[in-house]
Amino acid sequence: MQNSIKKYLEEHKQEMIDFLAELVAVPSVQGEAEEGAPFGKEPKRALEIMLEKCRESGFNVENVENYVGTADLNDLSPELGILAHLDVVPVGSGWSSPPFTLTYDEKTDKLVGRGTCDDKGPAVAALYAAKAVKELGIPLKKGVRLLFGTNEENGSADLAYYRQKRQLPPNVFTPDGEYPVINAEKGMLRVYFSTVAPENVEISAGTVINAVPASCKYQLPKAGNADTEAVFGTVEGSSAHASTPEKGENAITKFLRSTDHGLPMLKSLSELFPHGELNGKSCGLGFRDDISGDMTCVLSMLNTENGRLCGGIDIRFPLDRSKNEISEIICGKLRDAGFEIDSCEGVDPHCTDENSPFVQALLRAYEGITGDKGRCIAIGGGTYVHEIEGGVAFGAEFPGEDGRMHSPDEFITSENLIKNAEIMAAAIIEICG
Ligand SMILES: [Zn+2]
Repeated sequence: MQNSIKKYLEEHKQEMIDFLAELVAVPSVQGEAEEGAPFGKEPKRALEIMLEKCRESGFNVENVENYVGTADLNDLSPELGILAHLDVVPVGSGWSSPPFTLTYDEKTDKLVGRGTCDDKGPAVAALYAAKAVKELGIPLKKGVRLLFGTNEENGSADLAYYRQKRQLPPNVFTPDGEYPVINAEKGMLRVYFSTVAPENVEISAGTVINAVPASCKYQLPKAGNADTEAVFGTVEGSSAHASTPEKGENAITKFLRSTDHGLPMLKSLSELFPHGELNGKSCGLGFRDDISGDMTCVLSMLNTENGRLCGGIDIRFPLDRSKNEISEIICGKLRDAGFEIDSCEGVDPHCTDENSPFVQALLRAYEGITGDKGRCIAIGGGTYVHEIEGGVAFGAEFPGEDGRMHSPDEFITSENLIKNAEIMAAAIIEICG
């Protein structure tokens, strides 16, 4: 059976690539909401193109008000949901080909374009996995539903809305992460705090809360005395995602450590966030668990604006802690140090049992196609299924590979496009066959 699926996919490879090109050509970055287009015109257009293709393929299609569209492979009650998204992040700079034109590089087998890897390529793979099963007449005892969202990159309001209107299938995976299976995602907390800025102090460091800041520009009064000459400077670090701070160097904590500023509030910040400490131990945190490992706590923003010194912290905490607990600890420490809390929001951790029949079936599908050992992994970031009980991320990146998601020259190889479809078809048969 796997051989006939493989053959089907190889025969439809060009069709898959052409359809991916059609989707990549839609710049489905979040736009202004309009009537009937909750996330703007382009995400809606990408969804319509996908649903039209599903309709042509003989699936039962539903569009839930352009938040989420679904396509059912058969008439049975859905047991498995495959959740992909059709919105993309903005292009940014540094592309070597037009980001909304799918470009094929024969030498490297790369299909380059925004959304190829995240998540339009995997969405096309899911569609062709379902088409292969349907058109080859492989019998299924249970239903399969493809779900296509349009707001994953900006808070997943698509999914929240859909869940108010419809029920999700009992088993949902998203090909919007990596293989083999991501079953555990740390909890997350984002804290914004501030205080009156000391006179003649200007600091500018960090533009987004979920990244380790790469530089910290400052102006300080000499030796803490506002009457003397000011000192200017820039401290350089290197950027990384806040869930993996060990891959970067925090320019803010480096600044706090290295500068003889003589200012009490900067001193207390440097005591709470010693340079090089990544787990928040000095803030009373420093927790870990055996599955997700050490927690992370990153002082990612520090800026003076309108007479205030404003900071931001990104925290990823272990599976056995709650956001309320973590929030009480960190907010208490900041208040003790003289800061006001402007906002403190987050999500509890997510964990699906790795021994569940669903996860075991996915691992079998992965092993069967790749020949590699399957295993579950834990991450600090949150995936599309973070709020879905029992959900996991399954694909679409393979271990050790980097499709440059959210970066210039994002790509998926045509080989991996097919391999993803093969694995998803195997998963459909494992779970619904
Ligand atoms: Zn994604």
